[in-house]
Amino acid sequence: MSKKMKRRDFMRNSAVAGLAIAATKSEVTGFPMILTQGAVKPLVVSSANGNRFKNGGTLTAVQKAFTMMTEGADVLDSLIAGVNIVELDPLDDSVGYGGLPNAEGIVQLDSSCMHGPKKRAGAVGAIEGVRTPSLVAKAVMENTDHHLIVGKGAQDFARGMGFKIEDDLNTDNSRKQWLEWKRRIDPQHYLDPKKRAEAGHKAALEMYALGLLREENLHGTINCDGINSRGEICGVTTTSGLAWKIPGRIGDSPILGAGLYVDGAVGAAGSTGRGEANLYNLCSFVIVEEMRRGAHPKDAGMEVLKRIKNNTVEKRLLNSRGLPNFGINFYILNAKGEFAGVTMYEGQSFAMCNENGPQTLKAEGLLQGKPTD
Ligand code: ASP
Repeated sequence: MSKKMKRRDFMRNSAVAGLAIAATKSEVTGFPMILTQGAVKPLVVSSANGNRFKNGGTLTAVQKAFTMMTEGADVLDSLIAGVNIVELDPLDDSVGYGGLPNAEGIVQLDSSCMHGPKKRAGAVGAIEGVRTPSLVAKAVMENTDHHLIVGKGAQDFARGMGFKIEDDLNTDNSRKQWLEWKRRIDPQHYLDPKKRAEAGHKAALEMYALGLLREENLHGTINCDGINSRGEICGVTTTSGLAWKIPGRIGDSPILGAGLYVDGAVGAAGSTGRGEANLYNLCSFVIVEEMRRGAHPKDAGMEVLKRIKNNTVEKRLLNSRGLPNFGINFYILNAKGEFAGVTMYEGQSFAMCNENGPQTLKAEGLLQGKPTD
């Protein structure tokens, strides 16, 4: 019998015997694993950037979260430590430090977190000067009676909590891209809102076509959800929001039920993509409710994508096929440890980490082709 088989048998037999195994290393990843009687298999799901950026270290967000979680750390602490890697990495220009700024060149960040077992949550919106808004969201959860603090109040709160406040979270790259966008939309004139939105969208699409911008940068975020072997579920979402948004615009990420929702007994869901479409339908909440009624994570995700598609009727939001001209994605897990990544248009991926290590998987798409077709 192979060494691998022996280890597997050992773990199974021990679990059957009702033993808790502390610090057993996974065969495949070397991750320490804690198994308990009646255990759920620990799992982390996230947007694809959760398995892309390492900020010069050795682990991606999902690996970090999974490692900490299986070593016994609190699930939310583990997830936040994971997304901190992406927030701090200047190469991800959709989250935290180096996130693409608003229309005035200022980086404003949104984040929320939700703790299933504690039934508590916290969030910040349009916060400036703090690289890790997810940690401020957690501080709101732990230190206040509130759920959401925004703008200057959020920054003042963070300062009071001892967070370092910086004048500017732009990197050379994010500033360069904003200046290019600004130049293209003619900053000499303040266009009427429709023309301004059209000009901004057109400039962004041109930059995208020229390879100056990746599609996920227009919309980009990290959502990360996890369940440990005790079945404890938490989630976090953090973002710089829509690139070049109107200052003060807050998307779905810090809004419970939209960018994130967790019910400790049922599951978790979070989102990236066009926040306004999500807000109109409160999709993460709907997904969790669908799962409460027994839907598999994938079916629950498909249900909200259909709702978004059916509720998108404004012409400016439709492509030539009469379908939504934007992308939106959901990352979902349930209390049984089942999971899914779903997306409006096929071709997107998502990240997952379990005892077999981190993986980037194909998300299940509702529609074919491209949003712009
Ligand atoms: N959902 C985020 C927002 O709308 C951004 C994104 O994920 O693209 O702010």
